[in-house]
Amino acid sequence: MRELLYILSPSFSGSTLLTFLLAAHPDIATVGELKASAMGDVESYRCSCGARLQQCDFWRKVKTGMEKSGAKFDFADFGTHFNSGPAWFKRLVRLGAKNALLSYSSSQLLRILPSCRSRLNRIIEQNGILIDLIASIQGGCLFLDGSKDPERLTQLLVSRRWKIRVIHLLRDGRGIANSYRKHHNVDLKTAAIEWLRTDRACLRVAARVARQNVLTIKYEDVCQEPQRVLDEIFSFAGLARNASPNGAATLEHVLGNSMRLNGSKSILLDQKWRTDLLPQDLEIFEAIAGDYNRSRGYHKSVSKEAILT
Ligand SMILES: [Zn+2]
Repeated sequence: MRELLYILSPSFSGSTLLTFLLAAHPDIATVGELKASAMGDVESYRCSCGARLQQCDFWRKVKTGMEKSGAKFDFADFGTHFNSGPAWFKRLVRLGAKNALLSYSSSQLLRILPSCRSRLNRIIEQNGILIDLIASIQGGCLFLDGSKDPERLTQLLVSRRWKIRVIHLLRDGRGIANSYRKHHNVDLKTAAIEWLRTDRACLRVAARVARQNVLTIKYEDVCQEPQRVLDEIFSFAGLARNASPNGAATLEHVLGNSMRLNGSKSILLDQKWRTDLLPQDLEIFEAIAGDYNRSRGYHKSVSKEAILT
């Protein structure tokens, strides 16, 4: 059974940075977010190597390999994302990350209703073929999927096709809400509610995985002590230590947020929320998610020293 490493987190948690750091390990094969959603215009979408996806040597090899194995493959739709197809199918997939009872019944329905079952099997199969192909091209024994979303992890787990270890990546909710607010052009309240919803869904899905197969790490620690955190992840994943996180792989072919195109791949802690958020923003966040954020290890008071460092 192939082993997968899955990064589970809300968006804007630093998963693309973590993917690059992990991709430098010779035993890890990855393309970042295998769900390959939100690519926008595929004609102009650039791989992290800088080439347009359709011109990238690696992705051309993938396309040829998929066609040789008889699988359909289109850069505009990898066929790997569970949140595709009719609305009711997407709804059942989303329910998979809700409470245990809903998760169980939605999983049952997805497997009982013939049209759902065939769609689900098709997506699982496409992920399987693509994972094996990418691992054979890159040469890694462990496949890293940085797709993040808890609904996808649920479906991968329920399929029982892979041995899955989960890296549960946390980040201060104020940082995530601030990035979300700017990226989606919404107010802080909306962003904080969205973060709370996704983070809780991540927590619920992580709780369903055997404890020894979940490793919780913080984005802030990844930036401040990269070697220590990477050592912890490699040991968790049963891999040998790999030195020099600063030499993050620049020749990888990764899909994900725009950070993938940043040539330097420097490990810089993003703390813009500390200056972006006004006192009234912090109050709004506090009212919605303050207690929850603290329960994740992020505290309310910010000392001057912390701001300066
Ligand atoms: Zn590329």
